Amino acid sequence: MTVVESHRDPSRASYDRVLPAGEPWLHELARGQTLRIVDLEGNQAVDTLFFNARDPLERYSAQDTVRRQGNIYLTTGSSILSDRGNVMLNIVADTCGRHDTLGGACAAESNSVRYAHEKKYLHSCRDNFLIALSRWGDPYGLTKRDIPSNINFFMNVPVTATGGLTFEDGVSAPGKYVELRAEMDVVALISNCPQLNNPCNAYNPTPVRLLIWD
Ligand SMILES: [Zn+2]
Repeated sequence: MTVVESHRDPSRASYDRVLPAGEPWLHELARGQTLRIVDLEGNQAVDTLFFNARDPLERYSAQDTVRRQGNIYLTTGSSILSDRGNVMLNIVADTCGRHDTLGGACAAESNSVRYAHEKKYLHSCRDNFLIALSRWGDPYGLTKRDIPSNINFFMNVPVTATGGLTFEDGVSAPGKYVELRAEMDVVALISNCPQLNNPCNAYNPTPVRLLIWD
């Protein structure tokens, strides 16, 4: 855990918005801008993808990010790498201390396999990604094939001694935040996870606050 607080003043942010529980958010960050994601009420999974804003065929790569840093968790000092090995963003502050690269996004398919057939129609992160990507990605022809493995900010997915993955109650708490500085022009795509059936949101999806500094 590497807890590093930020000196940035929320009153000087150029963008400040609360994203309701369960909602998608797609926003372009110019190189040099800093995005802060605040877990307002605690234990809220924030499923996140990044695309090169000029060429969305270049996008966040969990494999490259994990391999480059030799660690499956993200925190201050972690570089977010693309599938071309370029640094897209750097995490410059983090008061939670640990973010997941492995757990993936909830989907109609996983909801019905993990929980029950009637859970298939619950709203999911994959639905959020598809809705937002189909609107923004129209000139590029982006579809469900363009959704790679995502980051889960504030989500706790520890690896067991035998290599298993478990979804555990969060390591986050009300007011914890993570900050990322864009190192290229990127599009950030967030699903503020609507999941009700596992402890990733403490069974209670809640809003997050998004701030951007120039
Ligand atoms: Zn989800």
